[in-house]
Amino acid sequence: MVDIKEVAENIYLIDNRLYGIPKWGSVYLINESKKALIDAGPTTSVATVLEGIKKIGVEAGDINYVMVTHIHLDHAGGAGVLLESMPQAQVVVHHKGARHLVDPTRLVSSVAETQGEKAMRMFGQVAPIAEERVKPVSGGEVIDLSEKQALRIVAAPGHASHELCIYESRNNGLFSGDAIGISVLENEVVLPVTPEPSFDLEQYLDTLERLMALGASRIYFAHFDASGKVQENLELARNKLQAWDKIIARAIAEGGLERAAEEFRAQLLRELEPVRKRKSLYKYLTDGIIAMNVAGFIKYYQGKSKS
Ligand SMILES: [Zn+2]
Repeated sequence: MVDIKEVAENIYLIDNRLYGIPKWGSVYLINESKKALIDAGPTTSVATVLEGIKKIGVEAGDINYVMVTHIHLDHAGGAGVLLESMPQAQVVVHHKGARHLVDPTRLVSSVAETQGEKAMRMFGQVAPIAEERVKPVSGGEVIDLSEKQALRIVAAPGHASHELCIYESRNNGLFSGDAIGISVLENEVVLPVTPEPSFDLEQYLDTLERLMALGASRIYFAHFDASGKVQENLELARNKLQAWDKIIARAIAEGGLERAAEEFRAQLLRELEPVRKRKSLYKYLTDGIIAMNVAGFIKYYQGKSKS
């Protein structure tokens, strides 16, 4: 059975059981006279998302927009297959990511290269999307769903260059994708995610500042839940990035990149300790996210030392 929850007026969270893990992946449905899905999830969770939409009482065929916060496959990989059940829907995506949804060949090979074949099996196939169904945006655009609900696109680079947040006017809420990071265990652990190839520390920090200035009263995290502690969560993400940066810079100066990777890995393990009580999530985070964060940060430093 799929778990759904109304997290704000006319906004539903569908737990898409990402990689079979409960409370790890959220797809949101905004149910106004026009309807929008925020993120698609990977192809392996499409059936769960469709079941969730049905449970909310909405016809998939009535959905107007599938808005992907970025093109990482856990957010956008399932969009192509999902669209087969949504004949009216357009996909809204950052212009830098648009062509990779139309022809996913390069996206898929880059993910296979950085994350391996096992990850590709967890995402499933990535179906191409007809170009006329893709609506590229770059930030500042407004999409009206009803008289009371206007969605504003906010460019949010840092986690990825093609990251978007979506501000919704009815509840003064912000769909944050991965721009802030993950928030698990009912918001007990908030952690920025810094994957290669496009993690950029300065951009990430700048995005967090701009999100603080929006004055939203809730955040809808893609991983995993809605939170009312907006400024607190944003500050926590900023403070962590700055603290990690210090740890890594010092370790590089003292013992090089390898030493930095080791110390950063140990730091992340300490920060994830509270998640140990959620077995499957803890395993995924300690196997997956730690390696991702370390690789992304180290690559970012390598790039800096070259320039
Ligand atoms: Zn991501």
